[in-house]
Amino acid sequence: MLERAIAAMNSTGIHLARQSSLYVTEPLDAPGQAWFLNAVVEAETSLLPVQLLHAVLQIERQLGRRRITPHGPRTIDLDILFYGSSVIRSRELEVPHPRLTERRFVLVPLAQIAPEFRHPTLCLTVTQLLAATVDRSEVRLWHAAAQT
Ligand code: ADP
Ligand code: MG
Repeated sequence: MLERAIAAMNSTGIHLARQSSLYVTEPLDAPGQAWFLNAVVEAETSLLPVQLLHAVLQIERQLGRRRITPHGPRTIDLDILFYGSSVIRSRELEVPHPRLTERRFVLVPLAQIAPEFRHPTLCLTVTQLLAATVDRSEVRLWHAAAQT
């Protein structure tokens, strides 16, 4: 599903620059459920933030995502973590993603591809956010993806 999502992004004007490895991650809010696979990508696009959100939500629907249980098993979840150093707080879209600092499943793959990237409002690098997070959930390298 991750490979299909990345292929779909590339053909929708979201051009991949870097891709993290895949990680097997412990579910945070639903103990007992199967572990997730997570990855982070860096991409270039001329889509504006809300257009980018609509494009990724469309890809989620194409890949058969149905929203059934919050935090539950899902075919795919595409979240926008940062959009350059933009800060957006609307009902529809929040960037930087408000929960990225409390999610090792985001910070570990993010630190692999963008360790020095600075959070525009917290003014800390991804490496510093990872060192400071209170999240202790497990994030294991699954297999190294080819760098694109
Ligand atoms: P979650 O990603 O928290 O598990 P969903 O994928 O169901 O939840 O997202 C629900 C809504 O979150 C989306 O329809 C979108 O409008 C909103 N949203 C707000 N900020 C973002 C963001 N940075 N990236 C993706 N979706 C976002
Ligand atoms: Mg989402």
